[in-house]
Amino acid sequence: MKTLNKSHKLDNVCYDIRGPILDYAKKMEDEGHRILKLNIGNPAPFGFEAPEDILKDVIHHLPRSQGYSDAKGIYPARVAVMQYYQQKNIKNITVEDIIIGNGVSELIVMAMQGLLNNNDEVLIPSPDYPLWTAAVSLSSGKPVHYLCDESNAWQPDIADMRSKISDKTKAIVLINPNNPTGAVYTKELLGEIIELAREFGLAIISDEIYDKILYDDAQHHCIAAMATDIFFITLSGLSKNYRIAGFRAGWLMVSGNKGLAKNYIEGLNMLASMRMCANVPSQHAIQTALGGYQSINELISTGGRLKVQRDLACNMINAIDGLSCVVPQGALYCFVKVAAEKFNITNDELMVLDLLRQEKVLVVHGSGFNLREGCYFRLVFLPHIDELTPAIERIGNFFKHYKQV
Ligand code: PLP
Repeated sequence: MKTLNKSHKLDNVCYDIRGPILDYAKKMEDEGHRILKLNIGNPAPFGFEAPEDILKDVIHHLPRSQGYSDAKGIYPARVAVMQYYQQKNIKNITVEDIIIGNGVSELIVMAMQGLLNNNDEVLIPSPDYPLWTAAVSLSSGKPVHYLCDESNAWQPDIADMRSKISDKTKAIVLINPNNPTGAVYTKELLGEIIELAREFGLAIISDEIYDKILYDDAQHHCIAAMATDIFFITLSGLSKNYRIAGFRAGWLMVSGNKGLAKNYIEGLNMLASMRMCANVPSQHAIQTALGGYQSINELISTGGRLKVQRDLACNMINAIDGLSCVVPQGALYCFVKVAAEKFNITNDELMVLDLLRQEKVLVVHGSGFNLREGCYFRLVFLPHIDELTPAIERIGNFFKHYKQV
């Protein structure tokens, strides 16, 4: 038998959130160590229960969910998504513009597979949610990273974005609210991005999976509502806002100047058909989720569990000598800056591995988010405060003595 190697398509594909350090943590667990995991934005295991109405609805529909659905998804789910965006003032959309997927992840890969030819370029934020970079590489495209500016609350640097546009650029990807930085983009900035897209004839692809997880006075603006002459893809789903990541329910919507993208949209529809349909029981959650009581609001408002945990995490991190983080305005993460020179750090992955070995706390290194400058790590503030507090205390202990050689 011939040896089997991974395909060259995977040569440049990297997804470090679930990479070798997680394997190492699993090995430590097998050896009996208890690891405090601040590495993955998966709300349910931390006691964030799904809204009961959603569970009831899925159970109610289960017996009738045995067959494939329409490839683009069940009708009520697509109507609910359409209405959700109509309420955000997106004009000229129909149920045909919506594809339901097995989470946003599947749709990100589908959107890139359908769009890119060899070396076509896509502008992606740095830092990013690394599936975006991975999906572009897998699709034989070239991810080109534009900087987000920590000194400006991690908003994208428009001058840098402009400087990265070439003849091969097809689209600008936005992650808003952002993972890993927690930035929520201002309306003015989104307007500037629209201007750029207009000037260079680019599509805008906006990943808005955290659009309801906002703190303080942050307001989310859906960029697709801000212009009709540009082609937009908007992605979101139930994993975070409704705490049901395991259900794998997400959606993709095309809007704006769809005439420009007729052929691409046909390609997307074909890719949706090739995988038959998304998981049907979970599609039944979408209408109830979007239409019903929004219990996330209780978690993010003053005194709400997520807000309390965010405040605690930021305060504790900012009190540690050599660490700092911009207070996130959305999502579930603190993106922590480490004063690399103070600790002699040249390798952030080794830093995170050392933290795991010494203090049994698992976080993700900044370069895993395609950030090449500076030293950072991302921590998830989902654990209850009685677990979050000791976890960050251990991080503090680690940095009291840490020196990389
Ligand atoms: N997009 C962003 C920005 C994310 O942070 C995540 C998950 O962490 C996803 C997409 C994937 O979400 P899903 O569970 O819908 O596949």
